[in-house]
Amino acid sequence: MKDHTDFRDPETGTGFADEMRLIPRWSVALALLAFVTVQYFFWIVLPANRHHEPPPLGFRLYFALSWSALAALYVLMVGYVSRDAPRRSMSLRFWIAICVIMPGGIGSVLYFLLRQPITSRCPACGTHIQADFHFCPQCACQVSASCGQCYRSVSMSDLYCVHCGHDLAADNIPARLKAFQS
Ligand SMILES: [Zn+2]
Ligand SMILES: [Zn+2]
Repeated sequence: MKDHTDFRDPETGTGFADEMRLIPRWSVALALLAFVTVQYFFWIVLPANRHHEPPPLGFRLYFALSWSALAALYVLMVGYVSRDAPRRSMSLRFWIAICVIMPGGIGSVLYFLLRQPITSRCPACGTHIQADFHFCPQCACQVSASCGQCYRSVSMSDLYCVHCGHDLAADNIPARLKAFQS
């Protein structure tokens, strides 16, 4: 089922909430743990080892909160990458390593700069194809609707091409694509 919806423009079709749902449970749990651990460090461990006058409470609150939020965010980011990289055919191990090793979240910034478009699989031959492909590069199976006159993308429910006005009914879209019509 999931594969089918991927043929619709997933890059623009999915919102922020859908992206957030991608974050796995283990990473949310770990993020909570990281948050609590940093809080514990700031309020329990640090004062016990302090030999001089502690900084003002406002300062301590600020640092404790920002550092624990950062630690939690870091874990969530790794969780997100672990789910996002496979659907873009990017090396999971490589990018998790980059995100964990690079200091200060530079790894995840790099990831978002360099990540590839979401890929899906050709229903006929299984080749990885990018979301904006109309035809599979290996077997020419049509994987998304396009105008038969100007060859640009059209929506499955359109009757006429929005770019050139071509009557799309004349194109004989494969029955497989018609099944996706809403
Ligand atoms: Zn194919
Ligand atoms: Zn057209």
